[in-house]
Amino acid sequence: MPHPSRSCEGWDENSTKCLRYHRLTVSTIRVTTPAATYSVTIAPGLLRTLYPRLRKLTPGKTPRLFVVTSPAIWALWHKAFLASFPKSEAQQLTVLFLPSGESHKRLATVESLAQQLALTGADRDSILLAFGGGIVGDVTGFLAAIYMRGIRYVGLPTTVLAQVDSSLGGKTGVNLLAGKNLIGAFHHPLAVFSDIDLLRTLPAAELRAGLQEAIKSAIIRDPALFRFMEKNGDAILSGDPAALQKVVTASVRVKAEVVSQDEKESGLRMILNFGHTLGHAIEAATHYRKLLHGEAVAWGSIAALHVSLSRALITPEEFARSANLILRYGPIPPFKIAATPQASAARLVALTSADKKKRSGRRAFVLATAIGSTEVAYDVTDAELLAATNSILTTMQQVER
Ligand code: NAD
Repeated sequence: MPHPSRSCEGWDENSTKCLRYHRLTVSTIRVTTPAATYSVTIAPGLLRTLYPRLRKLTPGKTPRLFVVTSPAIWALWHKAFLASFPKSEAQQLTVLFLPSGESHKRLATVESLAQQLALTGADRDSILLAFGGGIVGDVTGFLAAIYMRGIRYVGLPTTVLAQVDSSLGGKTGVNLLAGKNLIGAFHHPLAVFSDIDLLRTLPAAELRAGLQEAIKSAIIRDPALFRFMEKNGDAILSGDPAALQKVVTASVRVKAEVVSQDEKESGLRMILNFGHTLGHAIEAATHYRKLLHGEAVAWGSIAALHVSLSRALITPEEFARSANLILRYGPIPPFKIAATPQASAARLVALTSADKKKRSGRRAFVLATAIGSTEVAYDVTDAELLAATNSILTTMQQVER
C-alpha cells in the first residue's frame, strides 16, 4: 500500500542534520530470492530524497558512487538527481555515459565503461547507480556483475518499461550480433528507486510501449490492475503521477512475487514471457527498428490471446476486454515483413522456433486462462500459431483503416 512519509530532501554539509523535509507518498515492494533481498521504492519526487536513501543502504563510510547514464537523460534530470546531495558529496560523484540506443548495448560498451571505472578508481566497495531506461539498466547491472568479479549497483529506472519490468529480477546483459541478450548474468540490485516524475519527459510512444508490459502483468496475474487500467486510461496516458504510481506499483508487485518464487526462470517466471514469444519474432523480423519492445509485445499478447481463445481457455468476452485494453494503450504501429500477410505469418512462426525460450526442442508458450491467470503450454502447434498470427495481421489492417 502506498504510505505517506516525511523524507529528508536536503542535508547539511556533514550529512547529519536535515535542512528540508518533503512529504512523499511512497510504495515499497520487497523482492526476496535465494540470491538477494531488496526493496523497490516507488514515488513521485523520489529523486529529491535520493542521497539520504543511499546513505541508509550503506551505513558507515560513504562508498564511492559512479552514475552510469546517457547524455540525454543526464541533461534532462541531473539537477533533480543532484538536489539531495550535499555539495561535497556531489563533487565526489563520477558520472559515466553510454549513448542511447540498442546498438550500444554491447560488450564493447561494457569494456569501455569498465576501463573508465578502473581509471577513475572504482574498487570493490564502489556502487554503480544505473540512471536510465532498460538499456542503461541492463548494461550497468552486467558491468556491476563482472567488474572486479562483482560489485553493488542501485537501479534508478527512468522509463515505464524499466520501472515495471527490467530494473528488478536480476537479469542483466548485452546483445551479440547473433541475437539479443545472449551474454549476461543474474545480478540483483542493492535497491531500486523509481521516481514517477521522471516519466514526465518520456516520449509518448515510450510511455505507451512501457504500459504494455503493465497490461501484460495485469493479464497474467492481477485482475485488479486490469480493471484499474481499463477505468483510468485517460489519467494514466496523460501521465497523472498518482495513476502511474498505482500502475507501476502493481506491476512491480507481480514481477516481485514471480521472481521471488522462481529466480532463474525454471518454472513460474516463464509466465512473464506472455506475449514475448511472438513479440521477439516480430522484433527480430523488423530488425529491432520498426517497433519498440512493448509494441511488439502488444501484438504478441493479442496473438497469445487468440491461441487461448481458440483452445477455449478464455471466453470471447475475456478475449475482447484484453485485446481492447491493449489497443486502447496504442496506437501500436503496424509492421510488414513479407509481400503477403500469409508469407509474413509463416516467417514469424518460423522465427518463434529460434526463440531462446525454446528448451530441449520444446517451445514454451504462455496462454491466458482468465484475466489474471495463465498457464505455460508446450504443445502449441505451428498451425495454431499461424492462425493467431494471421488474426493479428487482420486486426492490424482493421486498425490501419
Ligand atoms: P531505452 O533504455 O532505450 O529507453 C528508451 C528511450 O527513452 C531512450 O532513447 C532513452 O534515452 C529515453 N529515455 C529514458 N528515460 C527517459 C526520460 N525519463 N525522459 C526522456 N527520455 C528518456 O528503452 P527501455 O524500453 O527502457 O528498455 C529496453 C531494454 O530493456 C531492451 O534492451 C530490453 O532488452 C531490456 N529489457 C530488460 C529486461 C530485464 O529483465 N533485464 C526486461 C525487459 C526489457
